[in-house]
Amino acid sequence: MQVAADIFQIQLPLPFPLKIVNCYALREDNGWTIIDTGIHYPPGEAAWQAAFTALEFTPADIQRIILTHAHPDHFGMAGWLAQTNRLSVLLAPEEERFAQQVWYHGPDNEDVSTEFFRLHGMPADLAEALRVSMVENRSMTTPWPATTILQPGSMLTIGRRTFQAIATPGHSVQHLAFYCADEQLMLCGDTVLTKITPNVSRWPDGLRNPLADFLTTLDMLGTLEVKLALPGHGPLISNFAQRLGELRQHHVERLAAIEAAVGEGASAFEVCTVIFPTSTLSPHQLRFAIAETLAHLEYLAEAGRIERFEQPKLMYRSQ
Ligand SMILES: [Zn+2]
Repeated sequence: MQVAADIFQIQLPLPFPLKIVNCYALREDNGWTIIDTGIHYPPGEAAWQAAFTALEFTPADIQRIILTHAHPDHFGMAGWLAQTNRLSVLLAPEEERFAQQVWYHGPDNEDVSTEFFRLHGMPADLAEALRVSMVENRSMTTPWPATTILQPGSMLTIGRRTFQAIATPGHSVQHLAFYCADEQLMLCGDTVLTKITPNVSRWPDGLRNPLADFLTTLDMLGTLEVKLALPGHGPLISNFAQRLGELRQHHVERLAAIEAAVGEGASAFEVCTVIFPTSTLSPHQLRFAIAETLAHLEYLAEAGRIERFEQPKLMYRSQ
């Protein structure tokens, strides 16, 4: 689907309830730049093959692969797409570190994460199920690509447009959005979405207070004129400023609900079961539910609205 002059959206399938990730192919005089890649499993390869046929190019025409962030649905096929031309995939330094840690040194990270969820009150059998889902994700991120650091703030010429890579942390540790000021056009990755709210999660080695970073990112994005945003999931966004306001409001309400759920004392997992229908969630969804709960708990604790204590698990209570 063409979404702007020389910019095509390619919808890649996902083996999660989210179903689809939007990747973008930007046509240039001497080839193509790809932004985000999909998760690597056979239906993803088939979708790329169909896109190559429809857009009349091949992997040999790919000049550059750029990632908004290193989550598996954006990073997973980077190595596969890069291999024909032996390209080095561009991503922000902290995203590269995340990819090393989570995809390359996976088992260590999976041990740390499983223990982290147990410390936050998750029953051992569920924490183990989460480990299995992490291993599954990692299996869909190979082959490992060569990587090149793309510093936030860098200017990129893609075709006749100039984009600035803008740090938009919160959804991931150093997520990048690509902004073309001349056209008020932004490839916003997973930082602004319409059908769903972008996941903002606290992971053991990620941002300490990711929700604070995410809200700061929304404020910063509010200073930019954006006529059209091309997101990582769901429909194109033409009401960008309004959507920023809705996302802020969502978190205000979620913070209040989580603050109320903490009461006299609760673990993050106990709070998670109040906020989310945990018994109906897949391990993959449960992992995001607990990590999203933790992001809000951390924000509330940093803001002095609740406090942490140990008894012997990590717990939270109202101030
Ligand atoms: Zn993401």
